[in-house]
Amino acid sequence: MAAQVIVPSERALQSLVILASDEQYAHRVATQLNGSPLFHIEHIDSLSELMTRLRKQPVDIIVAQVHADHVDSLMLPCCVSDLNASGLLCSIPHIVWTAQQQSELALTPGLLTAGVEQGWTHTLNGVSKAALASHARLARASGIRVEIAVEQQPEQFLAVISQLAHTAHPSPRSPHEEKLEQLLNDDEVVAALATGEGLRVVYQPQYDLATRTIVGAEALIRWHHPRHGDVPPSVLIPIINQLGLDLLLFSFIEKTVIDTLGKLSRAGIEIPIAINASARTLCAYGLATRLAQKMHRAGLPCKRLKIELTEDLAPDSELALSASITALRAKGFPVSLDDFGAGAATLSLLSRMPFDEMKIDGALVRAVGQFAQSSEIISGIVGLAQLFNINLITEGIEDTETIELLSKLGCNTGQGFALARPMESDVFLSMITA
Ligand code: C2E
Ligand code: MG
Ligand code: MG
Repeated sequence: MAAQVIVPSERALQSLVILASDEQYAHRVATQLNGSPLFHIEHIDSLSELMTRLRKQPVDIIVAQVHADHVDSLMLPCCVSDLNASGLLCSIPHIVWTAQQQSELALTPGLLTAGVEQGWTHTLNGVSKAALASHARLARASGIRVEIAVEQQPEQFLAVISQLAHTAHPSPRSPHEEKLEQLLNDDEVVAALATGEGLRVVYQPQYDLATRTIVGAEALIRWHHPRHGDVPPSVLIPIINQLGLDLLLFSFIEKTVIDTLGKLSRAGIEIPIAINASARTLCAYGLATRLAQKMHRAGLPCKRLKIELTEDLAPDSELALSASITALRAKGFPVSLDDFGAGAATLSLLSRMPFDEMKIDGALVRAVGQFAQSSEIISGIVGLAQLFNINLITEGIEDTETIELLSKLGCNTGQGFALARPMESDVFLSMITA
C-alpha cells in the first residue's frame, strides 16, 4: 500500500470527519489515514450531530459509510445542500462514500442458455453501486463533490482523499444574500417601487442559434439599494410578492420596456422584448386591455411585448389565468411559459392552456452535457413544441459546446451567458443598433 495522502502546502491541517455509527469502520478509516498526520480526524456517529458541527466550523472532507441498514450517508449531500441554501455553512465539504463491495454475476436464464455473456452487478454494503453513482452525479450537479471508494481497495481510497484534499471547495451560498433578506426594510421596497428609485431594467438578448442574430430579449429587474448594494431578483421578487406589490413592479417594467421598444422601433428594429410576470400579476383585472392601450399610444404593435409566465405565484384560479392568457393573446401579446421543466406544474399548465412559446429551464439545459437523459428530455420537449406548434427558447446556455448540442437536438433559439449576459439598457440599445 504505497499511496500517500498529500495535502496542499498552504494549509497545514485539513479537517476530516468520519461519519459512521459503526466504531470498527471509523477505526479502519482512521487507520488507513494514519499515514497522514496532516488531517485532523474526528469520528461523528450521527447525521444530526454532523449537521450541528458543520454550522460551527468548516469541515474539508467527510468520509461516510454507505450501508443499506443505515442510510444517513445517502442523505448527507441533501442535508449539506439544505444547510448551504439556508446560508448556514462555513464551507461546503467534499464527501467520500465508502463501503465493502459485493459483486455477483447477473444471470438472465434465456440469455445464459443462449451462451450470452452476462454483466456483473455490484453493490456496496447492499446499496446498488450504479444507483449510488447516479446519486453522486446529481450531488455534483448541485455543487457538492461526492466520490465513491471501495473499502477493499485502500489505494483507491487514499488516491480519492488525496485528490479531494487538492480540490478547492465551492463557495457556500453567500451569507450576504441570506442576510439581505433580513436587512431589507419593507418600507424601502415599497418606496423603491413607488418612485422607481434604485430600480432599473437590464436586457438579455435571445439569439437564433444557427445565425447568432438577435431575435428578441428578456427584461430583468435590478435594484440597487443605497446601503446594501445590488439586491438580486431571487431576494427581491419574493419580498415584492409577499407584500402583494407584484403589479406595481410589473407597471414599472412595462413602462420601461415600452419606452425601450419605442427606441428600437425608431431605429428600425422590430424584435420582441419579454417581461416576466407571475400568474397572480396576469390575473389582474383588465391587464390585457390596459397594456394594449399603452402599446397603441406608443405606436407599437402588441406582438412586440411578450409576457413570460413565471412559476413563483400560483394563480388563485386556473380559470382566471386561462381567461387572462386568452385575453392577452387575443390582443396580440405573445405569451410564453417560463422555466419549462423546472417543476411538474409547467407540464400540467401546458396541457391545459394555450401558449405561444415555452422556455426550457436553465437547469435542464446545464445538465445536458452531464446526464444522458437530459438530451433525451430536451428532444422530447422539442417534439412537444412541434406538436403544439409553439416557439421554443432554451435558457441558461453557459458554453459553446451546449449551443452545438442544443442545435443538434432541434433547439433554434436561446439565451445564456455563452451568448450574452444581461446588459444595461444603453449597452443593449447601442449593441443592437450597431
Ligand atoms: P428567469 O425569468 O428564468 O430569467 C433568467 C435568469 O437566468 C436571469 O436571472 C438571468 O440573469 C439568468 N441567466 C441568464 N443566462 C444565464 C446563464 O447562462 N446561466 C445562469 N446560471 N443564469 C443565467 P435573474 O435576472 O437573477 O432573474 C432570476 C429570476 O427572477 C427570473 O428568472 C425571473 O423569474 C425573476 N425575475 C427577474 N426579473 C423579473 C421581473 O422583472 N419580474 C418578475 N416577476 N420576475 C423577475
Ligand atoms: Mg423569464
Ligand atoms: Mg426562466
